[in-house]
Amino acid sequence: MKFYNTKNKKQQELEPLSGNIVSMYVCGPTVYASPHLGNARSAIIYDLLYRVLRAKYEVNYVRNITDVDDKINAAAKENGESISDLTERVTQDFHRIMAALGCLPPTHEPRVTENIPEIIEVISSLIKNGHAYEAEGHVLFDVGSYKDYGCLARRSVDEMQAGARVEIAPYKKNAADFVLWKPASEGDDESAKFASPWGIGRPGWHIECTAMSTKFLGETYDIHGGGLDLVFPHHENEVAQGVCAHEDSEYARMWIHNGFLTVDGEKMSKSLGNFTTVSELLDKGVNGDIIRYAFLTAHYRQPLDWNEKLLYDAKNTMDKFYRLPEIEDAAAKADDELSSYLEDDLNTSKAFAYINQQISDYNKSNDAELLTKLLGNIKFMGFLNYSVDEYFGRADDDAEIDELIAARKKAKQDKDFAEADNIRKKLDALGIIIEDNRDGSTEWRRK
Ligand code: AMP
Ligand code: ZN
Repeated sequence: MKFYNTKNKKQQELEPLSGNIVSMYVCGPTVYASPHLGNARSAIIYDLLYRVLRAKYEVNYVRNITDVDDKINAAAKENGESISDLTERVTQDFHRIMAALGCLPPTHEPRVTENIPEIIEVISSLIKNGHAYEAEGHVLFDVGSYKDYGCLARRSVDEMQAGARVEIAPYKKNAADFVLWKPASEGDDESAKFASPWGIGRPGWHIECTAMSTKFLGETYDIHGGGLDLVFPHHENEVAQGVCAHEDSEYARMWIHNGFLTVDGEKMSKSLGNFTTVSELLDKGVNGDIIRYAFLTAHYRQPLDWNEKLLYDAKNTMDKFYRLPEIEDAAAKADDELSSYLEDDLNTSKAFAYINQQISDYNKSNDAELLTKLLGNIKFMGFLNYSVDEYFGRADDDAEIDELIAARKKAKQDKDFAEADNIRKKLDALGIIIEDNRDGSTEWRRK
């Protein structure tokens, strides 16, 4: 199978380091707020990649939880909540949302707070190897000590500095030097403070991922994923730390980056305020499979602009998936043609065109063997996570609809036609179509 590798800007055949085992690290959420749709797009893409990989290999998939960060400290203060309550609550919310979107749990989900000794160890190696220095309670990576700095983003140090708006500080040797360890600030919550050889403080963001990927996957591993926004500085800095701390290591061999979910052409982000959370959509009754489908219709490296039409179109296709007859325990399995599309840098548009073709073929032929293949393909892509009743929303409000229909019947019997008409309008607003039979009974269905 081949994927586009940001490192050499080429499609590259996957050649796992250890035969049939693939090691993959994906940067996970910073747990201070509920994930927005941009975060969800990224999570769904790596979930599909994981599913494609595990069909052929044993996969060790690590996605971290960043539970130490200035944004977390600020959010906890603002909410009047302890840091541990906030990070626990947001982590649970993240898990609920991942499940609703059909994302499988990774093999390991390490938290920064549980890996401080490992982080300290990597920082100590960097100091020992002459790639980091201590200044005013901080430990900084010395960018000038690493000649290949910029090898991933492929930009000059000057360009990178301009792009990253690096913090100028008098104690830095070079403005591009970045923080590995940062001293605690006055008023910091005790749970955000950790002891280290350089004083009480907390790790920088980039070093966490280097330390946790090394711990679970080794110094050199197969795949590293994340959004395009992470190429610089986050991933550039991860490589620098990994390669400089561990002699002869390559760090990640293949870098996969997803394009942005945009709003009117601009990246959806918390800081711009142009975001919609996944919870908001789920609470409105949008099914997680529909959101998943909407995001997978575009190629993962392309930008995708968010709008309601995307959901509307996705719902139409998902309705078709859920209208297929069920086969008990149909296994999630890709047939050869679907695999060939997915193993070609996750070509989801060809994959869905193929599935949609299979649906129309099935609707014409009613061929049982085709149905088994088709359901296998749909499930392989991570859909059909809900029962048909759940999906069509029958379970929750059937009783309410039956009551409204009974009330309408009574109104008609009482010759209160205005009331009967009102009830029909109410049902219409709920998306219910009713049909009166000649025997006086009423049938209903959803629009
Ligand atoms: P964050 O919690 O902001 O670090 O983001 C978690 C993951 O979501 C990272 O891999 C980001 O690159 C990715 N991400 C954030 N915003 C977007 C977006 N608008 N579109 C696609 N991916 C995004
Ligand atoms: Zn990371």
